[in-house]
Amino acid sequence: MAESERAGEGKNPARAASAALFRRAQEVTPGGVNSPVRAFRGVGGEPFFVDRAAGARLWDADGNEYIDYVLSWGPLILGHAHPAVIAAVCDAAGRGTSYGAPTVGEVELAELVREFFPSMERLRFVSSGTEATMSAVRLARGFTGRDMILKFEGNYHGHGDSFLVKAGSGVATLGLPNSPGVPAELSKLTLTAPYNDLRAVEEAFRAFPGQIACIIVEPVVGNAGFLAPDDDFLSGLRRITEADGSLLVFDEVMTGFRVAPGGAQELFNVRPDLTTLGKVIGAGLPVGAYGGRREIMDHIAPVGPVYQAGTLSGNPLAMAAGLAQLRILRDENPYPKLERRTRRLVAGLLAGAAELGVPMVGGSLGSMWGVFLAAGPVRSFEDAQRSDAALFQRFYHGALRRGVFFAPSAFEAGFMSTAHTDEDVDETIQRARDALREALA
Ligand SMILES: *Cc1c(COP(=O)(O)O)cnc(C)c1O
Repeated sequence: MAESERAGEGKNPARAASAALFRRAQEVTPGGVNSPVRAFRGVGGEPFFVDRAAGARLWDADGNEYIDYVLSWGPLILGHAHPAVIAAVCDAAGRGTSYGAPTVGEVELAELVREFFPSMERLRFVSSGTEATMSAVRLARGFTGRDMILKFEGNYHGHGDSFLVKAGSGVATLGLPNSPGVPAELSKLTLTAPYNDLRAVEEAFRAFPGQIACIIVEPVVGNAGFLAPDDDFLSGLRRITEADGSLLVFDEVMTGFRVAPGGAQELFNVRPDLTTLGKVIGAGLPVGAYGGRREIMDHIAPVGPVYQAGTLSGNPLAMAAGLAQLRILRDENPYPKLERRTRRLVAGLLAGAAELGVPMVGGSLGSMWGVFLAAGPVRSFEDAQRSDAALFQRFYHGALRRGVFFAPSAFEAGFMSTAHTDEDVDETIQRARDALREALA
């Protein structure tokens, strides 16, 4: 088939339709995209425009086919256009798109989320991960009466003002250490520490005792590439925050329902005070959530004084999609299979690089994975930035030409869905090895 011919030769597939759309898009939208990493600035070249997707596959506007490991940047753990999700959304749409009054779907999804995340005794739905983290931090500040927060270098928590300090992938890829438009007065309230560095965290708490409202952390990092926590890191954060009366916020927007059904907090057995969710929770529709200990959540309006609201929060289409996806995850438990397949992919990529003598390290937890073109170990964003950017660019485009869609940045995690087969994975390993060989030449 045409696909394997492409795979064999690595020729440039036709991209005329995407190129024309990109020119039009740039006239009406900054950079032609509605979220910066989509513009491919991290790898050079131009993005393709998507026509449609099904299962593990995407097709672009020129009809090229890709095996997709971006999966909408995480949400699509069942793959694209899963029949149960599509049916649920269509059914909900037929009954109206939004009411501004509560529905049973919001109750059912909240109950189901709490089954996966028992630490979220009460939770609130919002429409994005950014909204979830902004709201959680406002709540942490309101609950503790403190203004400072601590985050980690290379961790990304959405584009809220307080978080755009050493904020990982998108920002690092674009070379913006900080963002204009964020008041310096506000940034000063955001302390940063290197990921996996408990000593630095302890120092921050010694310097500002009783002043830090919360630590917010990607418990497994996906936005600086894939970084796993050291054994004692998350439990250390728990101990430090507890001793100081500060809150621990796990930003599980990416890791929730992903590294394990109950996220990193289940996998590492650490109970945060607050959790933020997004991505998988909405199955590709706009859903975020934040929640946690009941006494903290009861500070949110209308029960308490901390204000947070949303016209489209708990949107019925989004709730229906999330419910359909999470019910399948609960009832079918695809996690062992997903994990095995993800390990198979990473092992294959590492073996291919080793065969070619290219330094590469990588790993996975559940169906979240990543590799760096660097000699190991990579434990922090600083380590990650040692990876070979020029080689990655060439490798990236070689893989794309061969019909494999990885995230267009050296500092992003990859994902796996239940729609990917072992054959897809083996085909990907083969094509990636060809792409790497070509990139070396
Ligand atoms: C994607 C992401 C966010 C932001 O979510 P959006 O829905 O893009 O606003 C926040 N935190 C983490 C860990 C993420 O991966």
